[in-house]
Amino acid sequence: MKNKTLEEKLYTLKFKPDIYSHLKANQEFCKNCESKVCTTICPANVYDWLDAEQKLVINYENCLECGACRIACPHSAIEWRYPKGTCGVTFKKS
Ligand code: SF4
Ligand code: SF4
Repeated sequence: MKNKTLEEKLYTLKFKPDIYSHLKANQEFCKNCESKVCTTICPANVYDWLDAEQKLVINYENCLECGACRIACPHSAIEWRYPKGTCGVTFKKS
């Protein structure tokens, strides 16, 4: 069986974003965080560090709800919960 391309795999996902972010980060911890591991560990590139503004941007709409960022953050700076109601990601059968 042929391996699926990333585009084919992404087609099996459906997103219904909430109007509020289900992810929050304590920006004071982020400013002093050396690894900023959330920006590399997230499979959906949800986190971007803006050096000029010294700010962590959270593109929560793309979140796959895997929980990796919460586990990996060395400062426990991420307040993590599931999106409310029927919002968030749905994994469709391919
Ligand atoms: S790893 Fe944690 S503390 Fe570091 S930038 Fe990301 S959310 Fe902030
Ligand atoms: S839960 Fe997973 S997909 Fe969502 S922001 Fe964290 S690492 Fe990224």
